[in-house]
Amino acid sequence: MTDTPATTAPLAQARIAVIGYGSQGRAHALNLKDSGLDVIVGLRKDGPSWQKAIEDGFAVAEPSAAVAEADLVAVLTPDMVQPELYRTAIEPNIKPGATLLFAHGFNVHFGQIKPRADIDVVLVAPKGPGALVRREFEIGRGVPCLFAVYQDTTGHAEERAKAYAAGLGGARALLIRTDFKEETETDLFGEQAVLCGGASELVIKGFETLVEAGYQPEIAYYEVLHELKLIVDLFYEGGISRMLEFISETAQYGDYVSGPRIVDDATKARMKAVLTDIQDGTFARNWTEEYKAGLPNYKRLKQADLDHPIEKVGKALRARMPWLSATAPAAKPA
Ligand code: NAD
Ligand code: MG
Ligand code: MG
Ligand code: MG
Ligand code: MG
Repeated sequence: MTDTPATTAPLAQARIAVIGYGSQGRAHALNLKDSGLDVIVGLRKDGPSWQKAIEDGFAVAEPSAAVAEADLVAVLTPDMVQPELYRTAIEPNIKPGATLLFAHGFNVHFGQIKPRADIDVVLVAPKGPGALVRREFEIGRGVPCLFAVYQDTTGHAEERAKAYAAGLGGARALLIRTDFKEETETDLFGEQAVLCGGASELVIKGFETLVEAGYQPEIAYYEVLHELKLIVDLFYEGGISRMLEFISETAQYGDYVSGPRIVDDATKARMKAVLTDIQDGTFARNWTEEYKAGLPNYKRLKQADLDHPIEKVGKALRARMPWLSATAPAAKPA
């Protein structure tokens, strides 16, 4: 952790090119602009977000043109398109001494991008989806950010990374120093084992268990999916202690005796296996090959999730709770 106060001052004279205008890109571009920094958005002219970035008031250019005039280039396209983007638009155009910034260390850590030697390479990773990065900024707060320096040729890499995090609003919350290896491996593990993969499988298996036992799918949906938000909100505000404070004694006793029957040391051993695949590059290799093959398994597995009965019943129930979508952030998996 760092207690050094960070401000946007080290980037006051810099032109920042934000490449990509999706979940993170749009939030970063808007927050940096509202922090008084000079932002240009780099996008493919035929891409879906070109018009949106213009409507949001940005100067927009093709990635190579945006990179050529930038002092800091934030790479916020999907991870799998970054190596090609780097080779074609960034490597030939980025100015010597400029800063190349990532929001996830994947490509640099796993050697898919080998940055030119005459630039700085840093990471600023908000610990939340783009919609939250924007919303927290707008209400005067911020999302905690990890920052790291991979390559420092100018002697200014760290102060520029921290200034970027300050521009996002992250310095209002918390900046934590890390390195590319730690950010990459922990981020992948978190989303696979707990946040996305683990949580959704827990919900689906709970739903199936109740429905197969003859209970109404609508009630199963509320029990294992809808109510999860209330529990997660308590985790977020005050950890497991706060959840225990708010649930009944009966729920607590059931938690203590049944929780470890569901998620036990065998689960933890499989978590370790998932972590090993991340650490030794197996996951990165498989994912890169899957992407290059045109995503056959990704598409099939995604479709199976979309076709699951919990999605059908959930859609019907949510249509009768219109107030939900008014507040829900358009959150993408981290
Ligand atoms: P996204 O899929 O939401 O958006 C990608 C954007 O890139 C889109 O605007 C798309 O049009 C554009 N794009 C795609 N191909 C392009 C190309 N060849 N040239 C220019 N633009 C192109 O992506 P995201 O989820 O915001 O992820 C961006 C980065 O942020 C990734 O490195 C990711 O790991 C990281 N990250 C994401 C989150 C999250 O919550 N989504 C959180 C932390 C870090
Ligand atoms: Mg799943
Ligand atoms: Mg209950
Ligand atoms: Mg993440
Ligand atoms: Mg991630």
